[in-house]
Amino acid sequence: MPEAMLKFMQLPQQPPEKRAVESRQRDFHEIYASFSATEAARQASRCSQCGIPFCSVHCPLGNNIPDWLKLAAEGRLEEAYEVSSSTNNFPEICGRICPQDRLCEGNCVIEKSFDSVTIGAVERFITDTAFREGWVKPIVAPTELTQSVGIVGAGPAGLAAAEQLRRLGYQVHVYDRHDRVGGLLIYGIPGFKLEKDIVLRRAALLAEGGVHFHLNVEVGRDVTFGELRARHDAVLLAVGVYAARDIGGPGAGLTGIVPALDYLVASNRKGLGDAVPAFDSGALDASGRDVVVIGGGDTAMDCVRTAVRQGAASVTCLYRRDRANMPGSLREVANAEEEGVRFVWLSAPEAFFGDEQVQGVIASRMRLGLPDSSGRQSVQTVPDSQFRLEASLVIKALGFDPEDLPSLWSEDTLDVSRWGTLKINPKSFQTSLPGVFAAGDIVRGASLVVWAIRDGRDAAAQIHAYLAQTASPGLRVAAE
Ligand code: FAD
Ligand code: SF4
Ligand code: SF4
Repeated sequence: MPEAMLKFMQLPQQPPEKRAVESRQRDFHEIYASFSATEAARQASRCSQCGIPFCSVHCPLGNNIPDWLKLAAEGRLEEAYEVSSSTNNFPEICGRICPQDRLCEGNCVIEKSFDSVTIGAVERFITDTAFREGWVKPIVAPTELTQSVGIVGAGPAGLAAAEQLRRLGYQVHVYDRHDRVGGLLIYGIPGFKLEKDIVLRRAALLAEGGVHFHLNVEVGRDVTFGELRARHDAVLLAVGVYAARDIGGPGAGLTGIVPALDYLVASNRKGLGDAVPAFDSGALDASGRDVVVIGGGDTAMDCVRTAVRQGAASVTCLYRRDRANMPGSLREVANAEEEGVRFVWLSAPEAFFGDEQVQGVIASRMRLGLPDSSGRQSVQTVPDSQFRLEASLVIKALGFDPEDLPSLWSEDTLDVSRWGTLKINPKSFQTSLPGVFAAGDIVRGASLVVWAIRDGRDAAAQIHAYLAQTASPGLRVAAE
C-alpha cells in the first residue's frame, strides 16, 4: 500500500472552507473555496484504496477515483488530471455540483466511522489546477472524417457527445436555441454553485477544437428537424426537459406568480451582463419583496438562494413533504437555511390571494401516508388546516416535463414514452428513427449533470459504431 495513503484515522475530514454567510448573501460567487495543494494532498491521502471502490461503483461515470486520489496525494497532479479526464469530460463541473452525498462520497467505505473522503473537492482541485497550468488542451482530431453529426442541445449531454465525436475526427455541429453554450449549466444553475466562467471556458475550448456551434437556432422554428437530418449523417437529440409543471387553484393567474426557470434565467443573464427587461422592470427581481418558493428540488433551492442574494425581505420555501423526503440535495437545504431561508414543511398551496398582484398564498398542512406505487410516501391534506403566507413574489418550482417533440417537430414517428421522454434502444441509444440518437434529460426525465455526461459519452460511442457501419471506405479528408 502506498505510504501516502490510508490516513483516514489520523486526518479528519476537512472540506474546503465555506464563505461566511454575510459575505455570500451579497453576491453570486461560489460559496466553497478551493483546496490549496497541501490541503488537497492531505484530504486525498485519507483514501483507503479499497479493492472494491464503492465510490466508483456509485459514480455514474465510473470514475477511477482511488487512482486519481493516490496521484493527488503524491502531488502528481498532471497524471491525476489525465486519469480523471479520461472518464469525465467536465470533472471541474461535477466536482462542484454533483450531489456527492448521494453518489460517490455517500458510498465511500470510510464514511460510516470516519467521514468520507472529500472526493468532489479533490476532483475540482485537480482540473482547476490543470486549467491553470495549461494542461487542458483543445481537441486535436487525429484525422478529418467527412461524416458529420448534428447535435441539438448544448447542455452537458450534447457537449460531452460533441467532445467525444470530435476526438474521433467527425465534423460536429451543435445547435442551440440559446445565445450561449451550456444549457442549464449556463442559464439554470446559479453562479453560487457554478461560476459562469467555468462553463464558458469549456465552450471556448470545444470551439477551438473544431466543434461548430450554431447558436440562436431553434430546431422546429429556424430549421426543421427534417432539414437537420438531411444535413448530417447522424443526429443526436439532447434537448433537455423544459415544460414547467404548473399549479392551478383560485388566484393562480395573478401577477407576481412566476415559473422558476424564467426567474433563474433572468438572474443568470443579469449576472452575465445582458439586458433583461423583465428583471429591470422588477417582475423577476426579488429585491425588497416577501418571496415564497413552492417546491423541494434543486430548482427550488436555487430559487430561494437567488432571492436571498437579490435582497428579498423574506424567503420561504413551501414543500408538501418533510425534510427527509425532499428530492433536493440536503447539502443545499443546509446552505439555504444558513443563508436565512425559512422552510415550511408538509404544506401545499391551495390558492393565491390579491387583486391583480399576488399578495400571498393560502396553504394547507399535509401529512405523509403509506408508500405509493413508486415507493414514496403519499401525501394527504390535513382537514381544516389552512394558513396564509404573505408574498409579493411566488416562484413555482414544481419540476419539468419534456416538451411535446413529435408535435413541435411534426414528426409523429418519433416515439415517446407515456411521460413524453424520447424512447431509445438502451443499447444503441437510437430513437425510433434511423440515424437519430438521444441522450440526457430528454431520455431520463429531469436528472443530473453527471448522468447527462454519461449518456452523452455513451451515445457518442454508439453514433461512432453506427457511422462506422454506414460509411464507405476512404471517407476521409485531409486534416487542415
Ligand atoms: P440541458 O442542460 O437542459 O440542455 C439542453 C439544451 O437544449 C438547452 O441549451 C436548450 O436551449 C437546448 N434546446 C432545447 N430544445 C431545443 C431546440 N428545439 N432547438 C435547439 N436547442 C434546443 N444537476 C446536478 O447534477 N447538480 C445540480 O446542482 C443541478 N442543479 C440544477 C438546478 C436547476 C435550476 C435545474 C433546472 C437543474 C439542475 N440540475 C442539476 C439538473 C441538470 O442541470 C440537468 O440534469 C442537465 O443539465 C441535463 O443536461 P441535458 O444536456 O440533457 O439538458
Ligand atoms: Fe463524484 Fe460526481 Fe465526481 Fe463521480 S463525477 S466522482 S459522482 S463528484
Ligand atoms: Fe477511497 Fe472511499 Fe473510494 Fe474506498 S470508497 S477507494 S476509501 S474514496
